[in-house]
Amino acid sequence: MDRFEDRPEIPPRETVKGNWSCSECGTEITELPFQPSPDRPIYCKDCWSKRRKPRFGR
Ligand SMILES: [Zn+2]
Repeated sequence: MDRFEDRPEIPPRETVKGNWSCSECGTEITELPFQPSPDRPIYCKDCWSKRRKPRFGR
């Protein structure tokens, strides 16, 4: 019998620690689930989820 599920496990989410502030509400952010880009705005969880919600339907 051949086994197809032979890929390695997905590593746990990386947490990046630092000192940022939300570009939207100014909340202090000390942890991000991703490496932020210096030329991109950073949002806290709250604003992030707000922004991810599709506001414009078609
Ligand atoms: Zn915010």
